[in-house]
Amino acid sequence: MKQRIQRFMMGRYGADQFGQLLMGISVVLLLISLFSRLDIFYILALGLMGYEYYRMMSKQVDRRYEENQRFMNWRYRIVVKWNRKKEHFKQRKVYHFYKCPSCRQKVRVPKGKGKICITCPKCKTEFIKKS
Ligand SMILES: [Zn+2]
Repeated sequence: MKQRIQRFMMGRYGADQFGQLLMGISVVLLLISLFSRLDIFYILALGLMGYEYYRMMSKQVDRRYEENQRFMNWRYRIVVKWNRKKEHFKQRKVYHFYKCPSCRQKVRVPKGKGKICITCPKCKTEFIKKS
């Protein structure tokens, strides 16, 4: 039996990080559907699960790999953004964060210095803000 499964899975894509997320979401949706008794969550969960099984069985390994890479990039960007937000939150008592009006670069200035002229480190635009 194990050998047969192994032979069946040969050349197929299998599970990856994107698949784990899909499965996780579908389990959550299933739980929601159990408690809310709304069919829509059940259908969505089945759909997601079906999609993930399709991905696992897929023989188009390159395309599945690419999907997973896109997902990993996206997840990486979210993590970076989240960490930056956390960092800003930690520093909120000591620093002010402003966006440059012309290039939207974020600039950090110390708090409690009154009105100051900020020079953007990226495009050298000067703007005045209260710190
Ligand atoms: Zn700028």
